[in-house]
Amino acid sequence: MVKARAGNHRRDTGPMMQSARCGAKTRSGIPCRSPAVAGKKRCRMHGGAKGSGAPKGNQNAFKHGMYTREAMAERKQLNALLRQARETLREIE
Ligand SMILES: [Zn+2]
Repeated sequence: MVKARAGNHRRDTGPMMQSARCGAKTRSGIPCRSPAVAGKKRCRMHGGAKGSGAPKGNQNAFKHGMYTREAMAERKQLNALLRQARETLREIE
């Protein structure tokens, strides 16, 4: 059985297509076009289902903290400061 492809139905316009899409890679190679579950990035078929995924604050994959939001923000700030200092030094010369 071949199902009709989504995308040309008259409901698939305007507000319905405004919602965030799943975008998961499908077996046909094109991104999934199902609407993402509210508050998640994927649809119910691609990991957005209720109860799926790790609970908030889960530390199971934490090894060194190199890529935590705090560490990355700190590095970004430090790099910006260094960049500014170098620029200031160049201006003084
Ligand atoms: Zn999906």
